[in-house]
Amino acid sequence: MPAVTVENILVLPRVPAPDPVVARPRAVRSLTSAPKGLEGEGFPVRRAFAGVSMRDLDPFIHMDQMGEVEYAPGEPKGTPWHPHRGFETVTYIIDGTFVHQDSNGGGGTITNGDTQWMTAGAGILHIEAPPPELVASGGLFHGIQLWVNLPAANKWNPPRYQDIRGSEATLATTPDGGALLRVIAGSLAGQDGPGATFTPITLVHATVSPGAAASLPWPSRFNALAYVLAGRGSVGTDRRPIHVGQLAVFGDGEALNLSADEHQDAASPALEVLLLGGQPIGEPVVHYGPFVMNTRDEIIQALEDYQAGRLGQIPASALPHRQPDDVRLPEAGR
Ligand code: MN
Repeated sequence: MPAVTVENILVLPRVPAPDPVVARPRAVRSLTSAPKGLEGEGFPVRRAFAGVSMRDLDPFIHMDQMGEVEYAPGEPKGTPWHPHRGFETVTYIIDGTFVHQDSNGGGGTITNGDTQWMTAGAGILHIEAPPPELVASGGLFHGIQLWVNLPAANKWNPPRYQDIRGSEATLATTPDGGALLRVIAGSLAGQDGPGATFTPITLVHATVSPGAAASLPWPSRFNALAYVLAGRGSVGTDRRPIHVGQLAVFGDGEALNLSADEHQDAASPALEVLLLGGQPIGEPVVHYGPFVMNTRDEIIQALEDYQAGRLGQIPASALPHRQPDDVRLPEAGR
């Protein structure tokens, strides 16, 4: 169950259903299942975008669903120190706590609905880990890490952070109150979320009650993706069935339709879905490990700059960690 919720959904502003005369509902172009993997020091993830072409994802690069997992005491895991260049990481913690520290003097705790938006830009080193008390106690952990590409013009920007508390997400609902819509970034029918991005995007976490349906306006210039975090339902014009760990890529149009099945598993009583879309950047993408650039030469330069310490240094007051992998880079990224 997501930490951010409301007592009375009916007091929230309503997102009106799109006008069927002018808004074309989007069909599902592809539906894929996220393979399971391990990230960092071995926490369980689902690779949400596996098997989807960069062209369909643009401006997004990569997304991991972290958990949902109920850790035993001593089990919670994080990442070692590692670099990034050329894009933004968006870490949204639905339940649980992650501590973050970086080479730029930034850091802090994100917990229960908080989002940390890190623009890596020209380069940064960081670590993401559960706090010691959570390692000791174990407990629930569930979140998302999304990578948003930067256009060439912004890849060399200095690093930037936005710490967005769960209480800052803009909450709205559908006309009948059947869905709780948390707007984290961008805009949904005039409901503006707190996250600011270089590339225009919209990021919404929707909880759709069993048996409820939602029809949401979506800008035609944005692509549109729906990733199911929990539960089961259907999406698109032909009501394609979709369940936890699956991603739908939508075709053209101005409206997104989704509905939650009447019957849900006891462990996840509603359809939890992440809706995301953005304006495609339309530039060449070369993604290697933790770097996302426009050319292969820029990737080689990023590796050289990292090895020469030009992406930053681990601060003296670093969180407990093992040494970073020197040249061995992750296959998919972190
Ligand atoms: Mn990272």
